[in-house]
Amino acid sequence: MTDYRDDEFIDVDELNKAPEDNTTTEDNKATEKPEHIVEDNDSENDYEDVCFICRRPESKAGKMIHLQNHICICDDCMHKTMETLGQFGFTGVDGNFNGMIPGNNVPANGQSADNESQNGEEAPDGKDAKGKGQQTGKPIPNISFLNLGDIMGMDGMIPGRQKIKQKKKKEPKIEPVFSITDIPAPHKIKDKLDDYVIGQEYAKKVISVAVYNHYKRVATNTMDSIEIEKSNILMIGPTGCGKTYLVKTLARLLDVPLAIADATSLTEAGYIGDDIESVISKLLAAADNDVEKAERGIVFIDEIDKIAKKKETTSRDVSGESVQQGMLKLLEGSDVEVPVGANSKNAMVPLVTINTRNILFICGGAFPDLDEIIKLRLNKQTSIGYNADLRDKYDKEKNLLQKVTVEDIKKFGMIPEFIGRLPIICSLEALTEDMLVRILAEPKNAILKQYQKLLELDEVQLVFDEGALHAIAKKAMERDTGARALRAIIEDFMLDIMYEIPKDDNIGKVTITKEYVEGKGAPIIEIRTQLLEKTEDLKVIEEKTE
Ligand code: ADP
Repeated sequence: MTDYRDDEFIDVDELNKAPEDNTTTEDNKATEKPEHIVEDNDSENDYEDVCFICRRPESKAGKMIHLQNHICICDDCMHKTMETLGQFGFTGVDGNFNGMIPGNNVPANGQSADNESQNGEEAPDGKDAKGKGQQTGKPIPNISFLNLGDIMGMDGMIPGRQKIKQKKKKEPKIEPVFSITDIPAPHKIKDKLDDYVIGQEYAKKVISVAVYNHYKRVATNTMDSIEIEKSNILMIGPTGCGKTYLVKTLARLLDVPLAIADATSLTEAGYIGDDIESVISKLLAAADNDVEKAERGIVFIDEIDKIAKKKETTSRDVSGESVQQGMLKLLEGSDVEVPVGANSKNAMVPLVTINTRNILFICGGAFPDLDEIIKLRLNKQTSIGYNADLRDKYDKEKNLLQKVTVEDIKKFGMIPEFIGRLPIICSLEALTEDMLVRILAEPKNAILKQYQKLLELDEVQLVFDEGALHAIAKKAMERDTGARALRAIIEDFMLDIMYEIPKDDNIGKVTITKEYVEGKGAPIIEIRTQLLEKTEDLKVIEEKTE
């Protein structure tokens, strides 16, 4: 067998050599179980079982039914098989599927005389069980049972001999910071967000309140006769200002599944592209196929501005207005049938129904040129009447997006029904140089902290001086991609350092300077002995002053 071995795929053939003697009796099987036999209910097993019929692994198809000869069949295929057999009036199958498995003293036509007598059932008309078996277990026309023994020799057909995917190692369960059934007050949610997201005070406040209300509504389910409406959110902000990051952090803190979808890939059902409902499939996958968990998750749809109504178009707008219309039902709350473990519906994949009533939808987009629309509106207002102001009063105003209204978004090309279903609108500010400096150093998992930690493992101290931080932020501002540029810039100049430092064990401290970031100088490197001398000098000074 070809060796495709890599991280995930392992040739089980070699690992688990099949036992020499294939004619082991039932008793022997019970006592001398060869190593590669998949143990039922063995949760510690490292490899996923694969359905013998549909070839889906356990992670996709769910729990497997284990038959003899280490054959596994998923629940769905088993049901389908049973249904098919049922159509032919076949009832000679007991819990051991003896009728299907060869080598169990069962005639090939499916008559299971032994089973029937074991069951010992008396037929209502007084005939003995055997007689009943003969009645019901008629040979099925045009169906002969597959003799699994015949195909044992075929490589790749038997789960024990094929390359199977290694089960994902169970990640250590992270305790959620908040519990959605006992959701903390908005200020506590914002406090936690502050640890990760820099600035964006207004957006954090709005989102904390919205999430608090949403999950309170989910937890209580009903509020007398007053139905609390869903608080879906529309986030507007330039690229790289932290929209996705804010939602990701929130989902992590709440420990709810999160699906991130890109609106540009969505099209009206039936056209090339992803169906709108595929976002719910993604959420189900993020919730490990747990429907209940998925129904309380968060869906973030990015680039929502790209599905604005196309202006001056005569053809059908399948990726714009139609997508908005298709999303209406989802946003409001409806039952959606989604495939389990796959992205598209087809005959082989089972479907589950998910209700989107309690799913929080957050849509985000940069909405380019929306500031022009806002400016136009504001300038128009100020240039009429006695209170007329300068026409260009708002031309230089930063963060015009904060002044957005529903009317502006409508003008941009979003349909009123769509905006109506996103009642909370919050805008994020463009990041300033100072904010970028803070993003570099302050968040719990700040980029600088990550590098410092890496070098700390080599017992090297990494320091960035103030000038260097501002030089990095300045460079990032020039790229105009928000905080996303920071990482690229740092990676660029840190490459040499990460390459050179581990070469020399004597290096104890590296200081990144403004000159080094700007490419005009070198970092300051201190040797361990120098550092020791310094600390000793300091001790002497301290002693003297005492
Ligand atoms: P977008 O607004 O385009 O969705 P992202 O949220 O993907 O931008 O931001 C890109 C990266 O920039 C994030 O992974 C995060 O590390 C960083 N970032 C952006 N804004 C902030 C912020 N306000 N605070 C901390 N990190 C941020």
